[in-house]
Amino acid sequence: MISLQNVSHDYDGFDVLREVSLDLHEHRIAFIGANGSGKSTLARTLNGLLVPRRGTVLVDGLDTRRNAVQVRRRVGFMFSDANHQIIMPSVAEDVALGLRGQKLSKLEKADIVAEVLDRYGLLALSNHSAHLLSGGQKQMLALASVLVTQPDILICDEPTTLLDLHNVQIFLDTVRNLSQQVILMTHHLEIIEDYDRAILMDRGQVHFDGSPQDAVAAYRRLIGNREKERTGR
Ligand code: ADP
Repeated sequence: MISLQNVSHDYDGFDVLREVSLDLHEHRIAFIGANGSGKSTLARTLNGLLVPRRGTVLVDGLDTRRNAVQVRRRVGFMFSDANHQIIMPSVAEDVALGLRGQKLSKLEKADIVAEVLDRYGLLALSNHSAHLLSGGQKQMLALASVLVTQPDILICDEPTTLLDLHNVQIFLDTVRNLSQQVILMTHHLEIIEDYDRAILMDRGQVHFDGSPQDAVAAYRRLIGNREKERTGR
């Protein structure tokens, strides 16, 4: 489980997270909220990519401030743009990178890579150039490369933003069948209907925390109120 205790962060004095405290234990949790509400910053605190200015993030009791390696092993992270995540020239090499440092023979590694590529529909593309894949294929490769490391928790920061509708569906179906805990940051309200919990962020704070349906309703009210403030009507 990930636990945030009074987490605050600013960029050069500009507050983006303000005293956020949450215990994240449900199987599938979504964070929603307007651009700039702090979702991405919060996402990056969950696997220690970012250590917040104040407060504590615990992953299974491990403080991300002091246990970066163990935390990264438990918590996988997917960016919205898979290009940021693809490192190696070929599809198979990119997935194999996740097994680096593990005490496995070359053959064992090749078997695991082939199994993972098969599971995510990429086996026929093993030797293809990773950077020449389509957007949907790149996102599946990014997912495969994270999951080959067998994290307990998967953080997905806007993973469907760059995908067309068909690939959104494929991606969501794949994520739906994972045994891992999934924590998703998204703008797409329609994709979180069957999530166990949804948290609405606003100006760096938790504005609502509950069912996806209630969170979406709270978001619509919030947008309505902001529009009234803006127009004075
Ligand atoms: P969201 O994911 O909800 O759009 P972010 O966490 O990306 O929110 O951004 C929150 C605020 O922090 C925004 O105003 C954004 O411009 C700012 N911000 C994000 N990353 C940085 C950074 N590396 N340096 C400076 N400001 C940043």
